[in-house]
Amino acid sequence: MAQRRSWDAIVVGAGVFGAWTAWRLRKARKRVLLVDLAGPAHARASSGGESRMTRAVYGADAIYTRMATASLVDWRALSRRTSLPIFHETGVLFFFNNMVPYAQGSIEAHRAAGLPTQQLDRAEMQRRWPQINFADAEFGLFEPRFGVLMARRSVQEVVAEFVRDGGEYRIARAAPAGAHAVSLNGLGETADAIVYACGPWLPRVFPEVLGDRIFVTRQEILFFATPPGDTSYEASRLPGWADYNGGDLFYGMPQLESRGFKVAHDKHGAHIDPDTEERVLSAEGLATVKAYVARRFPGLAGMPLVESRVCQYENSSNGDFLMDRHPTLEGVWLLGGGSGHGFKHGPEVGRMMAELVMGRQSAIEPRFSLASKAAVQNRSVL
Ligand SMILES: Cc1cc2nc3c(=O)[nH]c(=O)nc-3n(C[C@H](O)[C@H](O)[C@H](O)COP(=O)(O)OP(=O)(O)OC[C@H]3O[C@@H](n4cnc5c(N)ncnc54)[C@H](O)[C@@H]3O)c2cc1C
Repeated sequence: MAQRRSWDAIVVGAGVFGAWTAWRLRKARKRVLLVDLAGPAHARASSGGESRMTRAVYGADAIYTRMATASLVDWRALSRRTSLPIFHETGVLFFFNNMVPYAQGSIEAHRAAGLPTQQLDRAEMQRRWPQINFADAEFGLFEPRFGVLMARRSVQEVVAEFVRDGGEYRIARAAPAGAHAVSLNGLGETADAIVYACGPWLPRVFPEVLGDRIFVTRQEILFFATPPGDTSYEASRLPGWADYNGGDLFYGMPQLESRGFKVAHDKHGAHIDPDTEERVLSAEGLATVKAYVARRFPGLAGMPLVESRVCQYENSSNGDFLMDRHPTLEGVWLLGGGSGHGFKHGPEVGRMMAELVMGRQSAIEPRFSLASKAAVQNRSVL
């Protein structure tokens, strides 16, 4: 008779992907160990930091429209169970200077999905949100039911619920140790399934398989002060937004929980090592974003930077996620490739991964397969 392994599943990585996977498996009454080398959504993890946008605008990539919509149900439910909010329903506005294929694809995908997305012309946007200078924008897509997730807090809550539900969580560095086996700080453990949800560390954990298929890029996030006594930039008066006006993409969020007005330049930066990178904002990044803010949000021109973060994207070649079996190690799964847009999908990623692990689903989603991941960066999912 085959020997019973210590765990039904071990999940390595307590970022948003690993945390929700462990949570789902425990809900199915599996014996689950969740391990992280530094803690849920820690300062260097891709799931760290204050906030993340959730939206269903994804061009013609309707798979992500579906996943974001399904995930929002779980985020809302989690937010209702916690004392501090996980989800702020600010609405999300994408604006464009012409009917690019991304906008057209989004309109069609949302119509097919029956989403209440509104198409607004420039005059209507300017009337609703006078804080934004829409001079060169033609129209926007407004998603009233989406908004902003509190990132670190939400991952910590998912892990806390997992533990309250009987899951075990440990801090340790994991290293693959063969089929169904992992070494945790040098001590061996076995499980029917081991899921490596190691975010930007995946290429380091599996250099032969992923060394040239996950591209870790430097990304900067800036928070600006808002004018004293002025509520125009609060979440009650401004949505999450993304400026798709040709050229580079900028996005941001209203002031939430008194943190400052968040703005980011969504351009892939230099390739970095998540362990050794100094997390200091560049002078060039500050100048670029300040100039952008002055133009697009004239009321914030000259307002000082109050905080910044340097994070990283763990990009797959085109931006699609990775959710597949290890090519040679039996019982080992690879999960990652969040590519700068993965956070919102955590609950649904966790559900899909758990179904695969439990054998309730055997087919790998083709877009998430290892075989679909190329060794050349060519971003297409936004
Ligand atoms: C600046 C920035 C802005 C973003 N904005 C958005 C947004 O607005 N909306 C959105 O949906 N998404 C956004 N994203 C993307 C999203 O945050 C990521 O795709 C997502 O958080 C990735 O989660 P993860 O669990 O795969 O990785 P991580 O959060 O990095 O988790 C991986 C975990 O694995 C652990 N680990 C690694 N190796 C080991 C090991 N050997 N042993 C033990 N533990 C290990 C790490 O410690 C880490 O905690 C953004 C990302 C960044 C960086």
